[in-house]
Amino acid sequence: MTVRTRIAPSPTGDPHVGTAYIALFNLCFARQHGGQFILRIEDTDRVRSTEESEQMILDSLRWLGLEWDEGPDVGGPHGPYRQSERGDIYGEYARQLIEAGHAFRCYRTSDELDELREERKAAGLHLALKPADLALPAEEQARREREGWPHVVRMWVPASGTCVVEDMLRGVIEVDWAQVDAQILLKSDGMPTYHLANVVDDHLMGITHVLRGEEWINSAPKHQLLYEYFGWKMPVLCHMPLLRNPDKSKLSKRKNPTSINYYRRMGFLPQAVTNYLGRMGWSMPDEREKFTLDEMMSHFDIQRVSLGGPVFDLQKLTWLNGLYIREDLDDEAFLKALRDWAFNEDYVRRILPQVRPRVETLSDVMPLAGHFFSGLPAIEEGDFDAVKLGREELVKLLQFLVWRFEVVPAWHKESLLAEVKALAAHFELKMKDFLAPVFIAVTGSPSSTSVMDAMAILGSDMTRARLRHAIAVLGGVSKKQAKRFEKEYREL
Ligand code: GLU
Repeated sequence: MTVRTRIAPSPTGDPHVGTAYIALFNLCFARQHGGQFILRIEDTDRVRSTEESEQMILDSLRWLGLEWDEGPDVGGPHGPYRQSERGDIYGEYARQLIEAGHAFRCYRTSDELDELREERKAAGLHLALKPADLALPAEEQARREREGWPHVVRMWVPASGTCVVEDMLRGVIEVDWAQVDAQILLKSDGMPTYHLANVVDDHLMGITHVLRGEEWINSAPKHQLLYEYFGWKMPVLCHMPLLRNPDKSKLSKRKNPTSINYYRRMGFLPQAVTNYLGRMGWSMPDEREKFTLDEMMSHFDIQRVSLGGPVFDLQKLTWLNGLYIREDLDDEAFLKALRDWAFNEDYVRRILPQVRPRVETLSDVMPLAGHFFSGLPAIEEGDFDAVKLGREELVKLLQFLVWRFEVVPAWHKESLLAEVKALAAHFELKMKDFLAPVFIAVTGSPSSTSVMDAMAILGSDMTRARLRHAIAVLGGVSKKQAKRFEKEYREL
């Protein structure tokens, strides 16, 4: 048997360090067994998936040196590798399940589903809806079918008993079937859900081992049942521990930068980031902290993964990155790293229009545009003294902007401007006054290049990191304040 592993990201946002971490372990596992590593794009959520996000995922994994053998951009014998391009295969498999009596068409309306859930809640029952709960009287089912009501396809699941799933690292996992709902397999628009598409594709793509984050453990019983229904051999499952913040909470962008774009923009070296991700729950046999991807591959052993939540600690990564710069880069390599990072024509060209109208000599450029070539600016509380806003209002303004920027669909000047305008109106401030503290937070000085352009050029991650940094410099947001802010923000 040839070992085949895969990473199956959904292109719905920034390229997450968690995706790179799981990709790395899948890659190492495949290589250690002389197997193949596949990249599949799971873009069945047509509303949230974007091409931009897919491209960023491919770019950042490649930047980290994590190459795949088959994928949407390199092709392969089991393509297409983008679920949105796989036509009606999922619909066909759903029909097979219906015919075999393993799935059923469910014509329940969303109001009815809410009611059913309410009833179960009131009765103190588990919220999982079972086929028996969903069943309609035969006549009503027939009427809705005849009249062509919108419907979904759901899978049959046992009403009670225990489901036993094997996990490579965790051994036997037991889940009560009562907690597992009659999962939707095909949505009313005919698109498959993650569960159906994932199982069908893992099978058709010959995946033998699924290494994925532990947040998917709850899906395992449904997947196992689907494999049984289809009569297919299930890949071996391995649920990796989730990455955590230093306070042990789940790594989230609210507390730490989670996008690989951020680390790239901040000037981390890809080999240091990959090395650091390799330290997440895993260690070399001799426990050394610094190792290359090749070394990791040749010493890889999945059984050395420890399940205690690995902490993704920015300070440690920074320390490791420093080692790489000092120990590994000769002048030539250092120069190349700088070029790859920001001292290249593409990037400098984007900055020229910002500086040209504002300089008289070339030596004015660096003091003016230094913020395009730096990380978090060295600002202090006093730098905000000239801003005519109370402290709480000031912090709130920056916090609201971070929240708006977290969800802005496309990062370009026009969309950022729309967010800024909306918030300026909310705070009843003129644009100039609204932007004054943003200016300091982003450029690190009271006068520089245009802050709107700077944010567009710096990108989402660096901009948000600088705004968050300014909030921290201003004393941060207390728990009480956060509650007040969130309430007001929700009502925006
Ligand atoms: N599309 C899922 C994700 O976004 C894949 C999960 C899995 O590996 O099964 O992570």
